[in-house]
Amino acid sequence: MNIQYVQGECIFTRINKLIKQYEYLTDDIDTDVIIVGGGVTGAILGYYFTKNNINAVILEKSRIAHGSTSITTSLLQYELDSKAMELKEYTSIENVIRSYQLGIKALDEIGEFINEYGNTCDFERTDSLLYTAKNIEKKEIEEEYKIRKEAGFPVELIDEQNNPFSFDVKAGVLSKGGGAKLDPYRFTHALLEVSSKKGLRIYENTEVIGVRYSESGVTVETVYGHKVKGKIIMVATGYNTKLFTERAFGTKATAFNVATKPISNIDSIYKQVVIRDNEKPYNYFRTTSDNRIIIGGEDINFLPDIFNEELCSKQYDKLEQRLKNLFQSLNIEIEYRYCGAFASTQDNLGFLGKDPNNQKLWYCLGYGANGILFAVLGGMMLSKLYFGEEQEDLELFKIDRFDK
Ligand SMILES: Cc1cc2nc3c(=O)[nH]c(=O)nc-3n(C[C@H](O)[C@H](O)[C@H](O)COP(=O)(O)OP(=O)(O)OC[C@H]3O[C@@H](n4cnc5c(N)ncnc54)[C@H](O)[C@@H]3O)c2cc1C
Repeated sequence: MNIQYVQGECIFTRINKLIKQYEYLTDDIDTDVIIVGGGVTGAILGYYFTKNNINAVILEKSRIAHGSTSITTSLLQYELDSKAMELKEYTSIENVIRSYQLGIKALDEIGEFINEYGNTCDFERTDSLLYTAKNIEKKEIEEEYKIRKEAGFPVELIDEQNNPFSFDVKAGVLSKGGGAKLDPYRFTHALLEVSSKKGLRIYENTEVIGVRYSESGVTVETVYGHKVKGKIIMVATGYNTKLFTERAFGTKATAFNVATKPISNIDSIYKQVVIRDNEKPYNYFRTTSDNRIIIGGEDINFLPDIFNEELCSKQYDKLEQRLKNLFQSLNIEIEYRYCGAFASTQDNLGFLGKDPNNQKLWYCLGYGANGILFAVLGGMMLSKLYFGEEQEDLELFKIDRFDK
């Protein structure tokens, strides 16, 4: 079955003109690392592998950054989807704290890339807020605050007395510098532009349809019959991994987003914060450089028939209403509505590393709401692992961690 992963009018591929079109593969070629997938993850991998002088090629079946990269809210937070205490069942508090620290490291890395190559993707480092408007949830937010404070994160507890936001907050954890936002379409292209100048080869409209492993490496076959030979293959195909493995990674759902038109009086709200509420499923929202708000959430269990207009409209309407309730003084008109597949894991972390049964098959899968930061960590650590440098933190993301 050909499942569609993205649906609707995605803001980032609508507001941006085509930045660059890459050619399709017309020859048989050799490389060291074959990266399959030209979304933000493939671009991040291409950047780190090329930066470390490793020959790499990206093969994208369709167009650059038109998969789930086009629908990500691109709200970057060092924290995970669930609170530390909720994750205790699946991992340790130490691991949660370590992943928070790694999240900060990934945010810093993106900041360094921007400092070095310029800000062409509206990157902005912000504070991040996790909050509840319900008295009954105050305790759990306070507990999360305590865990982060004791671990040394620069956090502030928000309550009704010191609430700087225009909406009701009963308790909130405000993390200084704990977030960021960017335009994922332009970020992907920026990474590719930098890397292609350093030797990364990128092919669009070049679907990988077959993979063969041998003693010396791996050969992939592309849709028009050309072959690419490499030492390893990196799966950066997002939520679509069937061609490479039968392994099921994560629980599938569909996540929804709406983006407003630019709002003239947006300055009356606290813009420099990326925000997530404590609802189940949660909602998250951010502003854009042209004064829009994007809100995401209202996830539903994944079924192919959810790309059914009536069902989607209901979820979009809920998100719109939520925004209107939160920001009653703003003139909110929705311009873009879109949705797509999303996958979460029990411990909220993605999958980075080698297949336990095949040392030539590597994965970089940013599952969970922190997909972009996980991809950055993947790029950093996997490009070192390529040279045989063990990366202790890869343990957190290892492929078989849920196998019995
Ligand atoms: C609604 C929504 C909101 C999100 N919000 C956030 C957020 O705020 N912050 C955050 O960090 N993350 C967020 N995420 C997660 C984030 O979007 C993903 O981690 C990220 O976009 C995944 O990028 P990717 O490059 O791995 O996947 P994709 O962008 O899907 O790229 C994979 C590419 O692989 C290509 N491909 C697949 N099969 C083949 C093949 N056989 N041959 C060649 N190419 C192939 C596809 O065409 C596609 O372009 C969100 C996800 C969703 C769905």
